[in-house]
Amino acid sequence: MSKDELNCSFCGRAKPQTQLLIAGLDAHICDKCILQAHGIVQEETTEENEDHKFNIELHPPKKIKSFLDEYVIGQESAKKILSVAVYNHYKRINHSKGKSEVEIQKSNVILVGQTGTGKTLLAQTISKLLKVPLAIVDATVLTEAGYVGEDVESILTRLLQAADYDVDKAQYGIVFIDEIDKIARKGDNPSITRDVSGEGVQQALLKLLEGTTVNVPPKGGRKHPDQKFIEVDTSNILFIAGGAFDGIERTINKRLNLQAIGYNTNKELKKVDSDNILQYITPRDIRSFGLIPEIIGRLPVLTYMNPLDKETLSTILTTPKNALIKQYIELFEMDGITLSFTQGALEFIVEKALEYKLGARGLRSLCEAVLNEAMFELPESDVRTLKITKSYAEQRLSKIELPTLKVVS
Ligand code: ADP
Repeated sequence: MSKDELNCSFCGRAKPQTQLLIAGLDAHICDKCILQAHGIVQEETTEENEDHKFNIELHPPKKIKSFLDEYVIGQESAKKILSVAVYNHYKRINHSKGKSEVEIQKSNVILVGQTGTGKTLLAQTISKLLKVPLAIVDATVLTEAGYVGEDVESILTRLLQAADYDVDKAQYGIVFIDEIDKIARKGDNPSITRDVSGEGVQQALLKLLEGTTVNVPPKGGRKHPDQKFIEVDTSNILFIAGGAFDGIERTINKRLNLQAIGYNTNKELKKVDSDNILQYITPRDIRSFGLIPEIIGRLPVLTYMNPLDKETLSTILTTPKNALIKQYIELFEMDGITLSFTQGALEFIVEKALEYKLGARGLRSLCEAVLNEAMFELPESDVRTLKITKSYAEQRLSKIELPTLKVVS
């Protein structure tokens, strides 16, 4: 058979009438049929997706935890508690579609811990595992409706944006509210004069956390008055709130001491680990800090983050799947340069992060400062290997003024 006699086995067009004719084992297919087939495949798979849209794969807690282990170092207790909360949350969604009379409450979470200990990272990793959209919002910019700042609905605008405006997807997403402690009521006295920034926002958040239908301005803000609102139901959105709750250790300590001298002296309490008081946190402490009981009730899962010690920082630097050091090695590799670090250099970077109190966030700024010159000079040079020693790192950092070491999140 000559080339011109070939035709498409699907539509019969002869080769000259096609742009492209692809040969298979015993058949040929032309460009037009490929396009048509592609259309059919797409249509079929979207229909299938429609059917399974809400069936987010239910991962059991141990599986969730081991996924978190790949990205988040330490924080065993938080990872375990969060894994169970996430599992129950998505179990609840499947359950509510069923017919049982028992209504399961939402498992929204509060994570208490210093900045840079991995709270946001936990939320990000969960959303990565579940492939659900994630919105990260800062509670400090929220205000009661009518005041300068963002209304709480703006949280949902962010989530819609993260879901590419797919409302169904957004309704099964995760919202991470950072700095929840900053909207605490000042003082423990409920009769204190209402403060706009704090309690009002907490009140506004209540309904959202519990589950309600909200009219959301898709572009957010009041700058687009003509936009059509989108209705979003928050019943199945998982809210994770994070905060440092600076000074809460004092409240916990006070409570622990009171308990210890009380009649119910519990022997266990004598062994209080004073280096990590946060582990004894209870909803009562959060309440004393100034979150209103209704908010605490709607964030029923409470857990804490451990402060990052030298060993943990060092592991964070080198071990997770996307560890910083691995990222830099990869970046240099792209220029054909083999980058390595001596143990001394790594320890030096960790010590500096501790010294500057920059936590894990600081590791990035420090690595940038150490490697910037090399990243500038080497791509066009003949150098093919670069070993970062402690003295090289020391020398590079000595050239940088501390205030320029910005915290990179
Ligand atoms: P937080 O929300 O507690 O302030 P983040 O989760 O934003 O802190 O952490 C900032 C960065 O520090 C993360 O992007 C991550 O690279 C790193 N980091 C912090 N804690 C950990 C941890 N436990 N394991 C791995 N990396 C961490």
